[in-house]
Amino acid sequence: MSAPQQQILIVDDHSANRRVLYELFKDNYRIILAKNGPMALALAQKHLPDLILLDVVMPEVNGYEVMSGLKAEPATRDIPVIFITALEDQSYEERGLLLGAADYIIKPFYPPIVRARVNNHMQWVRQRHLLERFALLDPLTELPNRRRLEDTLKAKHAPGSSVSLAVLDVDHFKQFNDRYGHAAGDRALQALAGALHEVKQNEGELMARFGGEEFVIWLPQCDRAQASRRCEELRLAVSKLRIPHVEGKLKISCSIGGVSAVIGHSGGVPDDLFETADGQLYLAKSQGRDRVHWSELSGC
Ligand SMILES: [Mg+2]
Repeated sequence: MSAPQQQILIVDDHSANRRVLYELFKDNYRIILAKNGPMALALAQKHLPDLILLDVVMPEVNGYEVMSGLKAEPATRDIPVIFITALEDQSYEERGLLLGAADYIIKPFYPPIVRARVNNHMQWVRQRHLLERFALLDPLTELPNRRRLEDTLKAKHAPGSSVSLAVLDVDHFKQFNDRYGHAAGDRALQALAGALHEVKQNEGELMARFGGEEFVIWLPQCDRAQASRRCEELRLAVSKLRIPHVEGKLKISCSIGGVSAVIGHSGGVPDDLFETADGQLYLAKSQGRDRVHWSELSGC
């Protein structure tokens, strides 16, 4: 997993100051420039930079107000901010730090020190992002984990749009583990996750390991026909793996239960989506496994 280049948003109303900072960091980071407070807030929302270097004295919206605006928005709340200012009175520095600034640098500054401080902060940011990524990843399959799925399902959608959710369960997995051992079971799950991953995903789609041998596929902007076709592809991809199985079966297979719904006025995902998909999974299992079973929820 190679990390994308880190980004710094530089905010200063004087072009000469912006240029100095730009020159100092352009070789190591992607730089975004803003010349006033409103522009800084808009660009921070749009690009979600890793760090913001923020001037304090600016006309109309000053740096402290920009900081408050950043803190008010969940997406920008945790972006570290370093104030860079000519205000050297300690009360200004105190105010900046109390607002949650990561650091405070007074102009005129000594460039190597500013570079070193920024590099240190960027190192912490990189480590934090790595930890956040791992916290949302299933270590065995490297697919998104249950927590990531639950976060995704909290998002709001356009009323009237279609969404679908499917639960995929490996057939007779307990017997597989009993016969071949858990290490082989783990390898089978990894192979299965790899096969699922190979099937081209739609935009916004999320495939997560829910737990054990159960996976959940979240298909926003997908109606019943699209989503069930997509899950049929996934079922086939698993069956093509040809992992040997016991009980007279030639290969590992999976059963999938799915549900489609139309988003209501609240924009939220219906609560009973999961339960309904699970019910469909039960039907797929009881009707012989290695199949997709689908339902539709109305009036949510
Ligand atoms: Mg200024």
